[in-house]
Amino acid sequence: MALIVQKYGGTSVGTIDRIRNVAARVKRTRDEGNQVAAVVSAMSGITDKLIGMAKEFGENPSEREMDVLLATGEQQSIALVSLALHELGVPALSVTGRQAGITTTGSHTRGRIDAIDPQFMKRSLEAGNALVVAGFQGITPDGLIHTLGRGGSDLTAIAVAAAVGADVCQILTDVDGVYTCDPRIVPNARKLPEISYDEMLELASSGAKVMQSRSVEFAKKYGVVFEVRSSLNDNPGTMVLEEHPDMENVVIRGVSIERSQARVTITGIPDEPGMSAKILCALGDAEINIDMIISNIASDGMARHSFTMHSNDLGKAQAALKPVLAEISGESKIETEAGIAKLSCVGIGMRSHSGVAATMFKALGEAGINIGMISTSEIKIAVTVDETRIEDAARAVHDAFELDKAPA
Ligand code: ASP
Ligand code: MG
Repeated sequence: MALIVQKYGGTSVGTIDRIRNVAARVKRTRDEGNQVAAVVSAMSGITDKLIGMAKEFGENPSEREMDVLLATGEQQSIALVSLALHELGVPALSVTGRQAGITTTGSHTRGRIDAIDPQFMKRSLEAGNALVVAGFQGITPDGLIHTLGRGGSDLTAIAVAAAVGADVCQILTDVDGVYTCDPRIVPNARKLPEISYDEMLELASSGAKVMQSRSVEFAKKYGVVFEVRSSLNDNPGTMVLEEHPDMENVVIRGVSIERSQARVTITGIPDEPGMSAKILCALGDAEINIDMIISNIASDGMARHSFTMHSNDLGKAQAALKPVLAEISGESKIETEAGIAKLSCVGIGMRSHSGVAATMFKALGEAGINIGMISTSEIKIAVTVDETRIEDAARAVHDAFELDKAPA
């Protein structure tokens, strides 16, 4: 008998029929001789609807009240899934964040799980119940409700799996697993049997939105092995785990793209200490997330910096930089370019293989795609290209590394 934690997202519990499917799947898993704790999200659209209602009373509603409000979305689903299990004759208990013993720190709407006291969950499982646990919520030591940030039910599932000592943690979702690239863009993309935490994190931060990054970080920290798989079929999914030596045989695990990027270049910056800090602080204060950063010295001896960011932030960035530029030198100018996209190749095999960038750039060159900026980390190479060419770029690079073929 295994103890299995299953996480069902908003789409999987989005309608009454789908809730019945979830209940049937939980029942089947139990009938196979397992204990099951299902962590569920709010029905799809509910969290956004609640946020919309709150904003009827002002653009910046109290975060304390937002937590009280948003936590109700998950409470609806745990009760409904439990009722659906009762209909099938399964003894099931809904479990709120407080009952699950989930204590949080941090601030309202961005709570962090600090500890879980699994006594109640363990006792209830031992007594033969299926548990239906509310995702996305916990409670402060003072008894206030916290939510865990958008997509936070993934985090609840990973943390509950760690706390109850689950044998298996399944993230059941509307995709079949993690692919070498988005199959809507690269039709011969292949489902990966396994991927390391670090690769999953790099892909997630580069635009592949399978799971909330924080929950992958948490899984890595506590060594929770989990599987991303479909809630609609029984196909095996993708195991996410700590890397093992065999994994390095594969050079590139996957390719991801991120659209709607923009570049800002500042020229004519005096080549002196403290200049980059001034510029970056101004962007940071304006809460602009920058991604790639490149700086170099032009032939006139002045420095130039380029950054990429989401194109929605471009106006805000220009406004934030204007006073800084006036302050640092009369020579400084700002140039912007929107309509770019980022292509990232990720793989831990890069550490032990050479020529990865060469293969990637050659593939892009042969496809007639111009590379803008380049950035690298130990396990990632990313480039910007014209947004109109991003899908061609993904296909060219996917082909060049033969990602459609299973490694021997
Ligand atoms: N219901 C929350 C959200 O929509 C949490 C989750 O779905 O994971 O962000
Ligand atoms: Mg959701």
